[in-house]
Amino acid sequence: MVAGNAINFLELKTANLGFPRMGRQRELKFALEGYWAGKRTEGELLEVTRRLRAEHWQLQRAAGIDFIPSNDFSLYDQVLDMLVLLGVTPKRFGTGQVTLERYFAMARNSRKQTAMEMTKWFDTNYHYLVPEWSEGLSFVVDMTKLLNEVREARELGIETRPVLIGPLTLLLLGKDVADGFDSLSLADRLIEAYGTVLARLAEEKVEWVQIDEPVLATDLSVGAAEVFRRTYAAFAKVPVKLMLTTYFERLAENLPLTIEADTAGLHIDVVRAPQQLDETVAALKPHQVLSVGCVEGRNIWLTSFAEASEMLVKTVEKLGAERVLVAPSCSLLHVPHDLCGETKLSPRLKSWLRFAEEKLGEVVALASGDADAARANAAAIADRETAETSVNAKVRTQIDGLRKGDFARAAVYNERAGVQRDALGLPLFPTTTIGSFPQTAEVRKHRAAFKQGHETAEAYEEFLQKATESCIREQEAIGLDVLVHGEFERNDMVEYFAEFLDGFAFTENGWVQSYGSRCVKPPVIFGDVSRPEPMTVRWSKYAQSLTDRPMKGMLTGPITILQWSFVRNDIPRQQTAWQIALALREEVNDLEAAGIRVIQVDEPALREGLPLRHRDWDGYLDWAVKAFRLATSGVRNEMQIHTHMCYCEFEDVLPSIAALDADVISMESARSRMKLLDAFGAHGYPNEIGPGVYDIHSPRVPDAEEMHALLKLAVQVLRPEQVWVNPDCGLKTRGWPETVAALRNMCEAAGRLRSEM
Ligand code: GLN
Ligand code: ZN
Repeated sequence: MVAGNAINFLELKTANLGFPRMGRQRELKFALEGYWAGKRTEGELLEVTRRLRAEHWQLQRAAGIDFIPSNDFSLYDQVLDMLVLLGVTPKRFGTGQVTLERYFAMARNSRKQTAMEMTKWFDTNYHYLVPEWSEGLSFVVDMTKLLNEVREARELGIETRPVLIGPLTLLLLGKDVADGFDSLSLADRLIEAYGTVLARLAEEKVEWVQIDEPVLATDLSVGAAEVFRRTYAAFAKVPVKLMLTTYFERLAENLPLTIEADTAGLHIDVVRAPQQLDETVAALKPHQVLSVGCVEGRNIWLTSFAEASEMLVKTVEKLGAERVLVAPSCSLLHVPHDLCGETKLSPRLKSWLRFAEEKLGEVVALASGDADAARANAAAIADRETAETSVNAKVRTQIDGLRKGDFARAAVYNERAGVQRDALGLPLFPTTTIGSFPQTAEVRKHRAAFKQGHETAEAYEEFLQKATESCIREQEAIGLDVLVHGEFERNDMVEYFAEFLDGFAFTENGWVQSYGSRCVKPPVIFGDVSRPEPMTVRWSKYAQSLTDRPMKGMLTGPITILQWSFVRNDIPRQQTAWQIALALREEVNDLEAAGIRVIQVDEPALREGLPLRHRDWDGYLDWAVKAFRLATSGVRNEMQIHTHMCYCEFEDVLPSIAALDADVISMESARSRMKLLDAFGAHGYPNEIGPGVYDIHSPRVPDAEEMHALLKLAVQVLRPEQVWVNPDCGLKTRGWPETVAALRNMCEAAGRLRSEM
């Protein structure tokens, strides 16, 4: 201990809350996919997973982590694992002990059966399988996986802290399968089942259990809060210590409730919500340990040791070192495995990045008060703060100079609509598609060959041109009114744009699990964003030159690019969103100058950017809507701006959707049989709408009758001039034959409705 240096007073214990499970080289992905394809046996798959767990535990121990998690591993999803543990998997997949076959049947669609529904884990890009709650559930605890992992780690000499998703979170993440059923009524049975699990862990001599209740960082109903109270009152009798773990937001009004639970420990996220540290420390009971989540588990930037140490020192002063743990803010599931594989990043940018393994290093360095590490950290932080790559003066000036008028079209929608109708000469109920056409094996083969250098740029280009042309001819033959170029040149709707923009970098191996074996490699936004050259103009212009019908330009919106990237944390997200919007605005303007008359700006991620707390929604929606308007308002009234969303839960954000002021919005709605339109009708949504008339997630070809019936529903709530006719989403995952057949039927349905008007 060096006197006088506050940091060196700390000799704290450390914890990790969860480790990425894919493996350094995505071994889990390849093992799973090999097994599903019948190329690996069950034994081989399980052997890979055992090795991965061992490796991950050992590297956490080597890093110096004191509390190492187990049961954070999963073959597919940790929520599904909880359902298996508690014996509450949906009965339609079978009953009795869950075999590997049944486990995957619940997780993955097959020809025989539709899997459980999947949705996003809070505001992350991780998807979990949605529990299905109903009255008839019986709870039959199956400890196999949980105990296996505890024991496996023990064989390596590692005592773990098993992770469970807490009962309230599990209940609230599920859906009630029957109308009128309230899943909270399952609470007592659930508490009993958890009681059994915890008691068995105690028998197994497990000392601590990490019990995740991230819903404590969200708005809770009175009923939910009551269930929480009852649950943790019941757990007080269980002879294991509970680390009640919260993350992603502040506890706020749920703090008293959380403290009342009287668990042995509490974990809070002080990266997302630093302001909650003081009040939590003040509220803590004398016997409770506080786990301070001060290393960001959601993003890839280095931690400011100065800021984190200040929080730790303050906490230790109040609580004493023995009651403080240092930890990442949440599970490291949401960041890539390690930086070692990154050979192409600039060394300077790399020195600012920390992936899961490096984050463990930060946790340990902070806890030990390592002075050398602190000095190196301060140097890296200072370097990043002053780096010329972080700031683009021109962009900053542009943003500062924005005026109200830059966020609004020249004329209001009613005026624009007439101008556009005349300019485009479209019929009533115009037909269009959402952008992509089938990305066939052939398209993917050419892209891979080009990327690996086996195909020349010229040959690849020629192939893309041919694919685009034949796609346009197909659309003309089908009889669509507004055409698209098909998006054959795009690998991904964010990466394609990011590659053109300054301020973005790309990792080679920065994979993050999205769901099951599926991983994404988000681009890294490290500096101010700008557009050195046009991104899509060449393709749109080429496509328009092949046809007389309007060709829709196709862009990804600012919020979607933001949401699906690792975003810099040294300036507010809003700033970055507006910088992206400015770059897109230049693109939109250039498309207009190139003769494009319709442009679609996709924003499927607008909704998922919503903060976890309702009271924060307005603030976010305000700048998010402005970002869209900034991107799309620099054009003449003749330009028809479309937007697309992949979902239909609009009710609570409808005013913001209207405020985007897109001339046309298309969205998913076939599966809900146009139910969403009630909201649009009731709200008096003013602009045009293309409610998807068929679900593109399956190869099924709906007949004209069926789509006509849906359109009839639409014209009951909307004015006929408001209605567009299109599928639910892009067609890239479909095959050509079913696509052509379905679109023909769609055009027939539109024609029939037209003749009835
Ligand atoms: N234009 C994109 C496509 O058609 C939209 C994709 C999406 O909505 N996610 O593929
Ligand atoms: Zn979509």
